[in-house]
Amino acid sequence: MIKLGSHVSMNGDKMFVASVEETLSYEANTMMIYTGAPQNTRRKAISKMRIDEALQMMRDNDIDPSDVVVHAPYIMNLANKDSEKRQFAVDFLTEEVKRSAAMGAPQIVLHPGAHVKQGVDTAIEYIAEGLNQVFENTKGLPTLIALETMSGKGTEIGRNFEELKAIIDRVEDSDRLSVCFDTCHTHDAGYDVALDFDGVMETFDRIVGLERISVFHINDSKNPRGASKDRHENIGFGYIGFDALNHIVHHKDFEQIPKVLETPYLPKNPDDKKRIYAPYKEEIAMLKAQTFDPQLKDKIRAKHTD
Ligand code: FE
Ligand code: FE
Ligand code: ZN
Repeated sequence: MIKLGSHVSMNGDKMFVASVEETLSYEANTMMIYTGAPQNTRRKAISKMRIDEALQMMRDNDIDPSDVVVHAPYIMNLANKDSEKRQFAVDFLTEEVKRSAAMGAPQIVLHPGAHVKQGVDTAIEYIAEGLNQVFENTKGLPTLIALETMSGKGTEIGRNFEELKAIIDRVEDSDRLSVCFDTCHTHDAGYDVALDFDGVMETFDRIVGLERISVFHINDSKNPRGASKDRHENIGFGYIGFDALNHIVHHKDFEQIPKVLETPYLPKNPDDKKRIYAPYKEEIAMLKAQTFDPQLKDKIRAKHTD
């Protein structure tokens, strides 16, 4: 059975229970969670996350906790040139590892960082140094940190496989590093995910090693290959296209790897920022059925009558 889900939220009083409920509402069997708002680093105490109830609800619904993925907030930057801010990122990530371990989630997706002005090489040193500290702080915990493949917008590190490999090579406990392969990001970075996914995988295997991939982000892209933009599109409506994404989701080599959708919510009307609808239930059903539905967006909008 394919492992397919989406990012879901964790908030309010229900916390992790809300994440599981949202997952079930999409008929998904895996999920990716920000442990609070992705844009900030305020987090609730582990004791308030309602972990036991959430795990029980997963067991009751045949969801394997080891398919749950955590995503670190994207504002923290291990490559920051300010050493205090780097230390803040290390401390936060240390706590995030502890939270994930308490949740039974085996991996945390991390955007490696952005070099801003100090250049790629220095940034890679900083990131590796930060990861070494986090692993030192959390010795004995099983949690992996999955470095995400990035689109190359701005000064992002991780826009090619070589940069990820350079980080991995500098981390002592590199058994605790893996890779999150984002289809939109790699396409935007220039890899031919749309027409030659297997060729891209060969390249990845040569540079990093396929066994490092621990999660996929399945997103279409609003921009042509190599645009370095990072704007996700709904499945089948962008430049990667349904067939390529469907091929990845059902790929025999990656059956055991969780796949997570981060496609955009749909506005009721083009400029309506308030009424937006999650597309995940329908996108997941479409990928399970392996047939593209060009009317999908309209159907999702029509379903909501508010
Ligand atoms: Fe991400
Ligand atoms: Fe992603
Ligand atoms: Zn993205």
